[in-house]
Amino acid sequence: MAIQKIPQTDPHAIYQTYQAEINEAIQQVLDSGFYILGDQVESFEQEFATYIGARYGIGVASGTDALIIALRACGVGPGDVVLTVSHTAVATVAAIELVGATALLVDVEAVHFTLDPESLAAAIADVLARPSMGRLKAIVPVHLYGHPANLPAIMHLANQHHLYVIEDCSQAHGATLNQRRVGTWGHCAAFSCYPTKNLGAMGDAGIIVTQDRDLAEHCQRMRQYGWASRYISDTAGMNSRLDALQAAILRVKLKYLDADNGQRQAIARQYSENLQDFPLHLPHTSPGADHVYHQFVLRVNQRNALFTFLQAQGIGVALHYPLPVHQQPAYHRRLPLAPGGLPMTEQLSQEIISLPMHPCLSTAAVATTTAAIASWYEGPGEPTGLDRARAL
Ligand SMILES: *Cc1c(COP(=O)(O)O)cnc(C)c1O
Repeated sequence: MAIQKIPQTDPHAIYQTYQAEINEAIQQVLDSGFYILGDQVESFEQEFATYIGARYGIGVASGTDALIIALRACGVGPGDVVLTVSHTAVATVAAIELVGATALLVDVEAVHFTLDPESLAAAIADVLARPSMGRLKAIVPVHLYGHPANLPAIMHLANQHHLYVIEDCSQAHGATLNQRRVGTWGHCAAFSCYPTKNLGAMGDAGIIVTQDRDLAEHCQRMRQYGWASRYISDTAGMNSRLDALQAAILRVKLKYLDADNGQRQAIARQYSENLQDFPLHLPHTSPGADHVYHQFVLRVNQRNALFTFLQAQGIGVALHYPLPVHQQPAYHRRLPLAPGGLPMTEQLSQEIISLPMHPCLSTAAVATTTAAIASWYEGPGEPTGLDRARAL
């Protein structure tokens, strides 16, 4: 295996970009003597909520916890059915199961890889026709790779059937649809601030946003033992507090989120220009959407061969994700699927490949990556890739 010359993602490079400010923010927290919740967390919550255009922000320990707490605040629990996609991070489905609900998996659209409203409508009809499946309660759309899901269609169905919508925004900090940020469309939204996300901490972190005061208060209690006031548990809660160090780091990074997303978009443009003549599907942005390119994902034939070829050249490619959730060992054959199954999800998992993508990726690294893809297509003989990669 060749040495990796171009990493797929690079949290250290992002740290170095803002090093002086981040170091100062960390030192301030160390000197303050307050390490959990407190002023830093409250300031981050307010600044992030304002940035998104939401009323309330509730900092928590991870994106998974943000989903769990948001679902519980909406009253989702045992006996409830929650609709989501299988083409996502396992965390989306894990959170639904961890609150005791059943995840019913829906197919995705071919072009944007997000929840397909037609498959969603069919799944809703199916649950209503078979009450033994459980009570239909909520939808969790995922704004995968940084592109907004079809929120107008999803909200329309949700309103029609009185369902909660909890947006999984873990890959789409700052993305907009019709001038409105993702995270403000549903009842609540969950964001992960894992280090490689568009807004990343230097450890685990997450945040929930909502417009609804009752939901916000419920989330606030839940993250700290269900406390309404100190040592008095109003509801049955848990511990999922955000710590001050992560909040202070996130406050620095939030100032540069739009600039970082702009870098990702410039990189995406360069990729698209360099690759437009090859027989592959480039990412597409739907009208009215602003794509923040958490990942730059191609659809290609002979994906495995291209993957092996690029890896051998030291180019950090990845698969997001190699297996849909319903085909993962822990979930195989036990999760209900939308009528007609998930043909697009299953096909995509064979065709997707994520190229290097992070705000510090250089123009030269993008050029090296696209030149390698060109050489794969233009190289001698048919690109049976796997054999050629072995010969390298
Ligand atoms: C990263 C991610 C999560 C989970 O976030 P953690 O902070 O790792 O718990 C959930 N959903 C999606 C779509 C993600 O990308």
